Amino acid sequence: EAPEIVVVGSANIDTVIRVPRLPTPGETVLGTSVTEFVGGKGANQAVAAARLGRRVSLVGLVGEDAGGAVVRDALRAEGVDTANLRPRAGTSTGIAMIQVDDEGENTVTVVPGANAELDAERVRASELALREARITVLQFEISDEAVVEAVRLAGGTVILNPSPVRPVPGAVMDRVDVLIVNRSELALLAGAPEPATTELAAELAAGVEGPAAVVVTLGADGAVLVRPGGVVVVPAVPVEAVVDPTGAGDTFCGALADALVRGEDLAAAVRWAVRAAAVAVTGPGAQSAMPTRERVLAGASA
Ligand code: ATP
Repeated sequence: EAPEIVVVGSANIDTVIRVPRLPTPGETVLGTSVTEFVGGKGANQAVAAARLGRRVSLVGLVGEDAGGAVVRDALRAEGVDTANLRPRAGTSTGIAMIQVDDEGENTVTVVPGANAELDAERVRASELALREARITVLQFEISDEAVVEAVRLAGGTVILNPSPVRPVPGAVMDRVDVLIVNRSELALLAGAPEPATTELAAELAAGVEGPAAVVVTLGADGAVLVRPGGVVVVPAVPVEAVVDPTGAGDTFCGALADALVRGEDLAAAVRWAVRAAAVAVTGPGAQSAMPTRERVLAGASA
């Protein structure tokens, strides 16, 4: 069956190494454990939407290596369609190598690898899926060229989460239906200091030219939706304990797409995304903490 949501983005292997302390240059330390996860914002947002019950296809590239097979198998196990996640010879699957010490201090090395090879032509190979999907979701762990082409081909609603943030090409902004940014991403795009309050965030978001609507995620303060019809403030769902906020933003994006496919209006979709993201902060890791529909309905404190 055709996908409802097409995510165009990155897929990585994240390797987390626990060390008593971070090595200094030239030093060797003995790590205590190593754990591998499938990550990358594209894969994360695809899994977030799939867990909530959507048919999702991920457009992207992995290497013709062991990591690529791991990524594809893991996504398939989540029910994500990987027909558009193509293996590419001569490059490696994207990785993030994370060292975490006993104080929680970390170092992160990212090698984009195959993710950086996604160009307009390889996006075009997924033209049919892009044209027919209800929603296309994009992040910024791929090239501008890939983003521009995906937006050009997208037949449905376009959601852009420009993270890690860089300026958005004007032609892309004009085609974006929903721009999802956190405070620091908004500040960079608006060329202003980080907004300290929800009101200031809404004001800054209103000044962003192009997208039909802007959603600013505000961490523990929830989110705010800004569109010509007005401003909708959605407070966060209180949680008993924040275990790990990693992946909350990706859960938010996937859940928002899920709600739009189900025909919810944008304000209701933001409320749903806030509920899903609250559950995500109560568990460790990114994908491992992403909730199913039942889990969101049960609530963050369940
Ligand atoms: P990350 O990069 O860690 O995934 P982000 O910076 O993209 O996060 P945030 O704004 O920090 O995004 O979080 C996304 C959403 O997650 C928020 O809009 C909010 O709904 C929810 N959230 C984050 N932190 C909390 C919290 N402490 N309690 C409840 N909900 C939270």
